[in-house]
Amino acid sequence: MQEKKKDSERSIYMSLKYLRGVGEIRARLMAKLGIFNVIGLMEFFPKTYIHRQIDPVINRDYVGTHVSFTAYVSWREIRITAKSKSQLNVGLNDGKSSVVCTWFSYPKQYEKLFRQGDKVWVNGILSEYNDQLQLLHPDFEILDEFTDDDPEAHEESSVFWRQRRVLPVYSLTANLTQGVIRKAVYYAFKEFATTVQDNLPDFIIRKMGFLPRSKALGKLHFTLEPESVQKAFSRFAFEELFYQQLMWARHQRFHTQERCGIVFENKRLLTSELFHKLPFTLTGAQIRVIREIISDFASGKQMSRLLQGDVGSGKTIVVLFAMIVAIENGYQAALMAPTEILADQHYGNISKLLHGIGINIALIKGGVSKGKQEAKKGIADGEIQLIIGTHALLQKDVIFAKLGFVAVDEQHRFGVEQRALLAKKDERPHLLYLSATPIPRSLAMTVYGDLEVSILDEVPPNRKPVNTLVRSQAKIETVYRDTLKELVKGRQVYVVCPLIEESDKIDLIDAQRIHKHLSEKVFKDFNVELLHGKMSAKDKERIMQSFVSGAVQILVSTTVIEVGVDVPNASIMIVEHAERFGLAQLHQLRGRVGRGGEQAWCFLIEHFPSSKIAKERLATLAGTTDGFVIAEKDLELRGPGEYFGTEQAGMPNFRFANLLRDQHLLKLAKMEAYQIIQTDPELAAEEHSLLKSEYQAQYAEREKLILY
Ligand code: ADP
Ligand code: MG
Repeated sequence: MQEKKKDSERSIYMSLKYLRGVGEIRARLMAKLGIFNVIGLMEFFPKTYIHRQIDPVINRDYVGTHVSFTAYVSWREIRITAKSKSQLNVGLNDGKSSVVCTWFSYPKQYEKLFRQGDKVWVNGILSEYNDQLQLLHPDFEILDEFTDDDPEAHEESSVFWRQRRVLPVYSLTANLTQGVIRKAVYYAFKEFATTVQDNLPDFIIRKMGFLPRSKALGKLHFTLEPESVQKAFSRFAFEELFYQQLMWARHQRFHTQERCGIVFENKRLLTSELFHKLPFTLTGAQIRVIREIISDFASGKQMSRLLQGDVGSGKTIVVLFAMIVAIENGYQAALMAPTEILADQHYGNISKLLHGIGINIALIKGGVSKGKQEAKKGIADGEIQLIIGTHALLQKDVIFAKLGFVAVDEQHRFGVEQRALLAKKDERPHLLYLSATPIPRSLAMTVYGDLEVSILDEVPPNRKPVNTLVRSQAKIETVYRDTLKELVKGRQVYVVCPLIEESDKIDLIDAQRIHKHLSEKVFKDFNVELLHGKMSAKDKERIMQSFVSGAVQILVSTTVIEVGVDVPNASIMIVEHAERFGLAQLHQLRGRVGRGGEQAWCFLIEHFPSSKIAKERLATLAGTTDGFVIAEKDLELRGPGEYFGTEQAGMPNFRFANLLRDQHLLKLAKMEAYQIIQTDPELAAEEHSLLKSEYQAQYAEREKLILY
């Protein structure tokens, strides 16, 4: 027996178990689909629709189409098939022709349902078998009796749906049928359609030509023309995008607008000295981005800029120019990297480039090390001007005398709080975030709002695209043969094994096994070393250094080398179990080679079986080296939700909007949202009262989580 609820307590936020036609058990099943209350059900959109012929005179013209009609049971049989399964056949006759309904697997009680003479409604795709018209597994109802425990309900919604030419089809979970959901949807709308309020103001609805919310919802379930539901659907995508943009607009208005910054002049002293010392000429893109940064420095506002550049596009040098502009102006500059290896490498490279320019540089890493106290003291009294470090820079006892510029390398490796911590080490340092994982252009606006973005879209001229080849594990010997040719030329090789989680022992064993195989057998005349995350920082550093110096020719490692390592002499990258890596990760790995101007190779070793999507990933990688193309493909293969993972706080998980498909809506939503916030940032106006309450209920908390 279904629980009742007082009329005054009945609303669209009511649990589904109180809805007519649902009840406790079905409500629990629906919860598995993520539907918890009435409005949730109303927003549970059909995944597709079926068109059908209603009450046709049954004949062969309709074979292959969806039909719905009533007829009488003329016979019934239960057959035992060869595999000793039972098959139920029911012959129906509508007075002119006959059709056989067949079920191959069915609930036992079906056998007793069909009695000769019963009037039955059926719904399914008409087919033909041995010259006989057939319906396989049709929906049906015996019209002469009530099968449900609520006969009245049964009748009303069934009569309604029976007459529809177009039926919605929903995603299901075990033990739920289309019939159950349709019935619930019918009663939800019957009782509550008029109580659904709009969440967009009238002026937007009119301007966009949308239906009112309640009508648009109904249209999606009860449409007569599925071709036209897109318009109703786009309303819901718009809602999501609009509120998200409203959030960005408010964030910009309240959190970034008034941030004044230190003015740095471009004195052209140290910068031109560095410029002339460089062993290469800057690319056009590098020069452009350096100018963008310098103009931010001069603007009087605090810079907050994202520098996106593919692996190997030369981001470090851009950072270095920015740093020395800050230093020229009497401030300190800091660069934070996510790993010790990277910090070491930056320190080494930057020290070399600045040699003779007379800037004091320090490297700050975790743990205790020689000279660390002294370095901290130098940072505190301003003696040291340029600071490179790992997370250790965030420690309380690292105090800056006058920090004017902060760069965060591989910014996505740090949490929101960590980035904020570094930014707060001084009053208002200018901020530059580096990212080697290109965000698809189509998403940049949504992900970063109005954060300024600089793009290094030009690779240094001495690069040849890495030759990327997908090879099956069975052909690994040919890969080793090609590798040997490079080794004898004096080149170096990376072999990468997957490590999904730091604790994943099996993968480590895999890397150890490959290391043993290569060092004792295949390449025993060369130095092969193993690098993995479980080693002490000291050991890692020692091995990495010997690879950088060339003493080690083959580096077998888990993905610890993924980030930023730069060894121009390395020309081969072998990725074991390539099917287990994500596209972006593979692209990063490949970026480790081909930095020296010589032809480089990347072998993606596929261990079977690999899925269709994995194959597509590998093919994409083999087909292009453009990081943006790869990012778009990655997004397409994974969908925005997964693309960003959970650590990207503030990144919305849209239910209706699709950032690839809805670019146009996004632009409109953005325009509307920014206009509103510009004139009424607190949403105080009468005409915005609806917006205000919706915003406060759903989005105000998220506003605080925005990244920048
Ligand atoms: P990433 O953008 O991946 O951080 P890096 O800054 O590490 O790239 O640069 C990759 C390599 O390219 C380094 O060895 C660097 O010295 C070199 N490089 C950077 N800019 C240029 C350039 N304009 N011409 C030639 N080589 C360059
Ligand atoms: Mg880098």
